[in-house]
Amino acid sequence: MKLQSVRGTHDLFGQDLFKFNEIRKIVTSYAELNSYSELQTPIFEFTELFKKPLGEQSDVVLKEMYTFKDRNEDLLTLRPEFTTPMIRAAISNNLLNNLPLKTYGIGPMFRRERPQKGRYRQFNQINFEIFGSNEFMADLELIMVANNILNKIIPNSEFILNINTLGTRENLILYKHNLTKYFNENKNKLSSDSKDKINSNPLRILDSKYEEDIELSKFAPSIHEYLSNSEKEHYDNIKKGLNFYNISFVENNKLVRGLDYYCSTVFEFKTNNLGSQDTLLGGGRYDGLIGKLGGPDIPGIGWAAGIERISMLMTHINNDGAKVHLAITSKEYNSHAQKIINFLIDNKISYYWNYKYNLKKSMSKANSKKTNFVIIIGEDEFNNNFYSLKKLDDGSQYKLKINEIKSFINDKS
Ligand code: AMP
Repeated sequence: MKLQSVRGTHDLFGQDLFKFNEIRKIVTSYAELNSYSELQTPIFEFTELFKKPLGEQSDVVLKEMYTFKDRNEDLLTLRPEFTTPMIRAAISNNLLNNLPLKTYGIGPMFRRERPQKGRYRQFNQINFEIFGSNEFMADLELIMVANNILNKIIPNSEFILNINTLGTRENLILYKHNLTKYFNENKNKLSSDSKDKINSNPLRILDSKYEEDIELSKFAPSIHEYLSNSEKEHYDNIKKGLNFYNISFVENNKLVRGLDYYCSTVFEFKTNNLGSQDTLLGGGRYDGLIGKLGGPDIPGIGWAAGIERISMLMTHINNDGAKVHLAITSKEYNSHAQKIINFLIDNKISYYWNYKYNLKKSMSKANSKKTNFVIIIGEDEFNNNFYSLKKLDDGSQYKLKINEIKSFINDKS
């Protein structure tokens, strides 16, 4: 039997892994710069954590969760998203005593979607959250951090921020009621997918990709007619702030996001360079959710970005490999080799050896890897306690004592 990875999952190595690690490095540096602390949560949780908050009628809950019964009959789910586990962890560990809490995380998520380019069943997300502030400055900060991170990772790619506001929970209830009414009155003009959503999830019809739904949505009531003055002000302040930070954006009043818990500000960074899976990053406010999950009644806002999608837009990463290759000509000189290995490690000089006591093979490996230097350990070197160091770019060779090697390599690199 030839074993394969499960559909929608992939192994990470080579360029993809260099990119993944580079993304992690950049994300961590921006998290530190903006004082967000890392929070790691388990990859599975009790199913209850996701079911209601994400929406029993959301695609994720209806079709995509990896749910299984544990041996003691507990119902568990591989996390399909980060926000609810972050909140659960903040509550479980009493992290909400000191507000606002700013956290971030990086790790795998699981959704049983139909795999295609940019869409997998196991994928990695970067996630930033702020718990405990309803200041528009919090919304603005999160968007700014997202923009800075994307600009740093993919400076040559085009992406654009889409923003919208869904108003308060109360606005939304009234709005959804009227939207349901509108779509019911025009039911026969909707796609069959959307017909199923009229009563359960009418907002989703607004961002449907079917022509007939797009046409009908043009004349649907707009959430903006339902906004309170304070919500309007909140939204206007964000837009002014974005202008101040020079972050270009488009207002997209059909942007609703897929999960039930969103309200007020919602946003997505989109690109034209990835085909149909065009959203790099998405987020929004979820005031009310923390209270619903058993925590204090405090507001929250956050975003998640897909590492695989971002990494598809990254340019090639150079990874130079080991600086020094060793060429040891016989087992007899192993003790002399051990001395130099110890020395290289102590001095943080990367090295590689192929375990072959064969000068020719070691040299050709070093050449193929474009190594800078080869340290040769043979009979003469062993007997007279020195090392031969060959510089591969010009072929020059030097006899060096161990304590001369570091400065030599630094000088000649
Ligand atoms: P969401 O939690 O659905 O708002 O997704 C946030 C981000 O995660 C998206 O913008 C994508 O970049 C990424 N993402 C979501 N689902 C997938 C998936 N199935 N495969 C790869 N990336 C995904």
